[in-house]
Amino acid sequence: MSDTARFTAAEEQAIRDTVQRGGTPPCPRCEVPMTRRPIGGGSFGLGYQRQREWLLCAQCRRSVIFDVKRGTRL
Ligand SMILES: [Zn+2]
Repeated sequence: MSDTARFTAAEEQAIRDTVQRGGTPPCPRCEVPMTRRPIGGGSFGLGYQRQREWLLCAQCRRSVIFDVKRGTRL
């Protein structure tokens, strides 16, 4: 079975909040800065860009992927 550890929903929400404010969140468990890696390439110029970010903790190896909305809201 997988030993992949997950954050709790509350921890993921805290990470998401920080990213959407433009910051780099610390790992809720380790309190070390997490690595941010944009995933995929949204197409610019379509009026809508979907971008995903992968937040990875190098210490405990927990990670979370979520959609990040940038720019103006419709
Ligand atoms: Zn960690």
